[in-house]
Amino acid sequence: MSHHHTDDNCIFCKIVAGKIPSKKVYEDEDIFAFHDIAPWAPVHLLMIPKAHIPSLAQVGPEHEALLGRMMVLASKLAAQEGCNPYPDGGFRLVSNTGTEGGQEVHHLHIHVMGGPRPWLRG
Ligand code: 5GP
Ligand code: ZN
Repeated sequence: MSHHHTDDNCIFCKIVAGKIPSKKVYEDEDIFAFHDIAPWAPVHLLMIPKAHIPSLAQVGPEHEALLGRMMVLASKLAAQEGCNPYPDGGFRLVSNTGTEGGQEVHHLHIHVMGGPRPWLRG
């Protein structure tokens, strides 16, 4: 039983709960990270808060620490999962927000992409 707010119809909430399997790369009290099911770069992870926050459009001052931790974690997970070191390697963070932002899953997530080019997209 989680103390986080969840949405029963949300696929990322189901992934956090283990109801949908995923290739997990990281988990702590507030954050979960796993491999994207349809990667378009050699490394393609999704980092999500365990709480069901629909998108970056819904965040406020109460989320500053969480988002800060996710930004710092991104670099660590990128390296851990095989992204080459900065500056010749590196990685890309993307958080699609809303329909015009290209968001398909409405649970806040940060794509962490990297690895040798060319990539499938981007
Ligand atoms: P968005 O377009 O909302 O920014 O990205 C959603 C991402 O979630 C897509 O890259 C898609 O491949 C990924 N995705 C959707 N469903 C699943 C799933 O069930 N498992 C995993 N691991 N990734 C998923
Ligand atoms: Zn959710």
